Amino acid sequence: MVDATWGTGEAPRDVLGQVTSEPAFDDDHPPQKELIADCVHCGFCLPTCPTYVLWGAEADSPRGRIYLMNQGVGGEPLSDSMVEHFDNCLGCMSCVTACPSGVQYDRLIEDTRAQIERRHTRTPKDRALRSAIFALFPYPRRLRLLRGPLRAYQSSGLQKLVARTGLLPRLAPTLATLESLAPRLRSVPRPPRRVPARGQRRAVVGMLTGCVQSAFFPDVNSATVRVLAAEGCEVLIPPSQGCCGALSVHNGRKEEAKRFARRLIAVFEKTGMDYFVVNAAGCGSSLKEYDELLADDPAYASRAVAFTAKVRDLAELLAELGPVATRHPLDMTVAYHDACHLAHAQGIRAQPRGLLRDIPGLTLREIADPEICCGSAGVWNVLNPEPAAALGDRKATNVLATGASLLVTANPGCLMQVAAAVQRQGGEIALAHTAQVLDASIRGLGAGALLGRR
Ligand code: SF4
Ligand code: SF4
Repeated sequence: MVDATWGTGEAPRDVLGQVTSEPAFDDDHPPQKELIADCVHCGFCLPTCPTYVLWGAEADSPRGRIYLMNQGVGGEPLSDSMVEHFDNCLGCMSCVTACPSGVQYDRLIEDTRAQIERRHTRTPKDRALRSAIFALFPYPRRLRLLRGPLRAYQSSGLQKLVARTGLLPRLAPTLATLESLAPRLRSVPRPPRRVPARGQRRAVVGMLTGCVQSAFFPDVNSATVRVLAAEGCEVLIPPSQGCCGALSVHNGRKEEAKRFARRLIAVFEKTGMDYFVVNAAGCGSSLKEYDELLADDPAYASRAVAFTAKVRDLAELLAELGPVATRHPLDMTVAYHDACHLAHAQGIRAQPRGLLRDIPGLTLREIADPEICCGSAGVWNVLNPEPAAALGDRKATNVLATGASLLVTANPGCLMQVAAAVQRQGGEIALAHTAQVLDASIRGLGAGALLGRR
């Protein structure tokens, strides 16, 4: 049963820190009553919710959060504990897949988060951390500036020295989390603005290079470009594209997300592309909702609808086009991890598995509890390092239990999160994006080219 006193345990405060009895939500897109009413409290979503699995608390389940939203639209003020339960949500959308009543929790939590960011006063520490995150992560150029110092830190032996002292997690837990997540950086040239199709051209494709993807996984972007070209796509990569706004929209920063979305549309609509391809699951799910994000913007609403119709995840597009490039054997066993924003938010599960199964010699294994998030969830693992590590450890155990030599997924956040957890457990498994596996097969590089990737 739901505890009717949630969210009312302490005096709520307004943006100036004054005690308030203002209702939680204002009239600017509050969570919709009709969508809240779709929840019949059946509880089918509970076992798929990572925070409910971790803590077993109703208030940290999808049903509990919907109950709190209902309190908010009923006029209850926005208390700190209410905000904490909403903040605890990873936005993994596992509950959306599990819900037999079709509750649109994704829309509910997005509207709730936007209200929280506008109407709730966070602690100075939380504000400072969030400001730092959003001054860095959505800016690929700023992230790329970190590559030099990070490579020096990793290759000079300083990283190993710091790890031996064990001091970093105690002195600076957030920095320790970021440090543990950072992948081993490789030097890869930036992709050109245009790459012609190999053989007969079948499509013109605009490509998102992403923020974290372009700074920390440039080899995934290079592999994506080669695979697309080999499959008959001309690839267009304007360097001025910037961030897609996914991180902002998933954290309630709607106005910031709209600015990024407008810019991306303006850059790519000039290219004459047939499709807009994305190789990061979190970005793809937001890009497919640009039509909703910009629905109130008279200058962009119809342009956003046209743009959204062209967005495809890489695996989705390759499955739609069908293969023309020859696949060479990769004799290896692979475990495929469903990124939440690919499987739950976009419903893309069969296409990447199909692409992998079509590679001769490759054996595909499934991971237990695939619906439970690995704990990455955008910047959730930076904001909530302890529960994120617990979810990462759980996922790493299930991944290692498959006995696969390579873990494949389609999101940079998942790659970093699972790699860090596997390392904590002293496990051994190589990691790759779906694009890198296809690239290695098409180029005939053999399994050895993938097994060195950690
Ligand atoms: S989005 Fe994920 S974490 Fe949030 S309520 Fe749904 S299942 Fe739980
Ligand atoms: S969100 Fe869906 S699955 Fe969860 S309690 Fe409500 S109706 Fe049931």
